[in-house]
Amino acid sequence: MMELAILIICFLAMICAFAAVIAFAFKNEIKAIRTYRRLKGHIPECLRCTDCCRKTVTVSSQEVENISAASGMKAAEFVKSTMGIKYLRRDEHGNCIFQDIVNGSSGDKISHCRIYPVRPAACRRFPRLKYWGIPGLDWRCRAVRQAQIENHRTEKDE
Ligand code: SF4
Ligand code: SF4
Repeated sequence: MMELAILIICFLAMICAFAAVIAFAFKNEIKAIRTYRRLKGHIPECLRCTDCCRKTVTVSSQEVENISAASGMKAAEFVKSTMGIKYLRRDEHGNCIFQDIVNGSSGDKISHCRIYPVRPAACRRFPRLKYWGIPGLDWRCRAVRQAQIENHRTEKDE
């Protein structure tokens, strides 16, 4: 009887440890799915803050070809590759190399994508994500963060 109890405890401990490892390994994915659910699928309007142009942007081979044709640049000039995954290069400030930041008329900074018509799918769909077919929202998007704060306030007021 005692052995059986120890066996059950060990088994439960293993399940808990496994669940903790999975939760840690997929914490970003879980957070994105939770964010989507919290906002009930509402995709907030883009604030044009350009924060997302400072993130890692993966590109497919086809996208590299399209960007190369549109920009006249060689792939090696704008693509970095790690373990077979291709990314857009970033400048010394961490901005995408295709991002131009210019001064607006009222002294504000205006961001402009030099390859906008052929920008990668990762840029087009941000902050929308999909994991295992389940929709998610990237909480690193400023508009998403703001929507979450507003949502939280509304829930508290209700
Ligand atoms: S981070 Fe979000 S709000 Fe800011 S430009 Fe990108 S998509 Fe728009
Ligand atoms: S390709 Fe354009 S939209 Fe995408 S990260 Fe670079 S500047 Fe931003």
